[in-house]
Amino acid sequence: MRTTEAAPRIRLVHIITLLMLISISIISIIQIAASFKAERDSLYETTLELNYESAKKMSVTMNSLFKAMENSLKVTSEHLGRSEQIQDSIQAQLDLVTGSSNYFNSLLVSDANGNVLAVSPVSVGLTSKKLTSKAVLDAIEQRKPAISAPYESITNRLIVLMTTPIFNSADQYLGSLGGTIYLRENNVLNDIFGSNSYSSSGSYIYVVDGAGNLIYHPDHNRLGKNVSANPVVAKLISGQSGKEKVVNTLGVPMLAGYSYVPANGWGIVVQSPLEEINEKSMGLIQNAILYSFPFLLLILLITAWLAKKLTLPLARLAATANKILNGKQVADLPKVRTNTYEAYHLYKTMIITIDALQKKANQYELEAQTDNLTGLANRRSMETQMLDWLEEGLDFSLIVLDIDHFKVINDTHGHLVGDTVLKYLGKLLLAMASENEYYYRFGGEEFVVLLPHVTRDDAYLYAEKIRNKLEMTISPIGQPITVSLGVSSFPTDGMTALEVLEHADQALYFAKGKGRNCTVVYDPKYT
Ligand code: GH3
Ligand code: MG
Ligand code: MG
Repeated sequence: MRTTEAAPRIRLVHIITLLMLISISIISIIQIAASFKAERDSLYETTLELNYESAKKMSVTMNSLFKAMENSLKVTSEHLGRSEQIQDSIQAQLDLVTGSSNYFNSLLVSDANGNVLAVSPVSVGLTSKKLTSKAVLDAIEQRKPAISAPYESITNRLIVLMTTPIFNSADQYLGSLGGTIYLRENNVLNDIFGSNSYSSSGSYIYVVDGAGNLIYHPDHNRLGKNVSANPVVAKLISGQSGKEKVVNTLGVPMLAGYSYVPANGWGIVVQSPLEEINEKSMGLIQNAILYSFPFLLLILLITAWLAKKLTLPLARLAATANKILNGKQVADLPKVRTNTYEAYHLYKTMIITIDALQKKANQYELEAQTDNLTGLANRRSMETQMLDWLEEGLDFSLIVLDIDHFKVINDTHGHLVGDTVLKYLGKLLLAMASENEYYYRFGGEEFVVLLPHVTRDDAYLYAEKIRNKLEMTISPIGQPITVSLGVSSFPTDGMTALEVLEHADQALYFAKGKGRNCTVVYDPKYT
């Protein structure tokens, strides 16, 4: 039976392989995404921690440095308070301090009105000028140690000024001693943080004062700017330390560690751009993908192989089924060894079904060639046999045999007894048959015997043997039956099956005419 719909062409092995490919890909993507996130989070955490630790360390250093600077100013101012008035001596003392330490870029002494009495180094060139900056005026007014916000000095430098008052031994205010830090030049902060504070990973350090002004920053253009809007700086101003993700003033996301410096209220920030960390984790993930790729490929190949192995029995069965469907002869089912439930049962069922079909086909074939009353071969078989021999050019003789007065038997004993007589005759003929004698029920009460390689004369003898046997055997009607026989042969009496048969029939007709119970060999004279 052919179905009208087109058979599906997609193979099971391809579907399984594709499914595996899809699931491996999905799993890989999920895994890569998950490990990227884990890797990145851990890098975030580590970076934040490292930045915070270094900010803390720097804060400790800065704290003691600042105290040392304050102390240096205090000691110098006390010294100056004891030996005021002598200009040369002030200058010499300042030079001594600036020469012996690198805390300040310059030192200067002003009187109670802001007039500069001495500057070291002298090259700064402020001697005998009057200072008017807010930082100096505040210092004079408040008469206590102070540190200024960054400002442009009269020498056009961005500076931070640390001041301490000078009192004489009678506790009279004489003026102010100031130490400067030139923010844009080499200064004491560079000594701590390094002059180029951008690391290769893009991390950097900056310092703000208590008001959020940039005191130290790798980008000198930004020095002095107020960045208190930055959340981290806001926390530093309020005296807090910590670590967090923050978007800096320029809008760049950063991982920042920050620490407050108690001695001067400044704050130190160490931060790394998020982008760098993402790139770093991406790089790690790319490596991981590269390393795992051969394994994924291997898994896929193994899957494809397994899928092929699993589906091979089904594929073979399908191919065989397709052959059967197209009417091709299938000698044997393919050998199938399988461990899968479905393939095993399909295979078993197919074996049983095909076996049953084969048996049925054989049975039909046999039935088509057999006369079912007598069990002898039928007329069709006889014709086939004769055609085969004619084709091969094989000599043979043919005897046609007809029961005498069978109608009377039927009429006397009934049709059923007539049938029994036919069966009896069939049995008797079969019992006589040797390997080289072929018996057929031709139709009605007529039978045919084919004798390969037998001459007409030998066939006559054989026909007589049959006739004599019947004559002497009691049949189901209680007495022997008799038969008349006609003999002809190929190629002597005819060149075709029909001719040979017709001529035997003619001989039989003559036998009947002669009075029955006799054998007549065909002779052309009879026609
Ligand atoms: P003859 O000696 O001239 O051959 O006479 P006959 O009566 O044998 O020949 P006829 O051709 O007149 O009759 C043959 C009979 O055989 C007629 C038919 O009813 C009977 N017959 C044919 N086939 C069967 C069968 O299968 N069973 C039975 N019981 N009778 C059959
Ligand atoms: Mg007849
Ligand atoms: Mg008859």
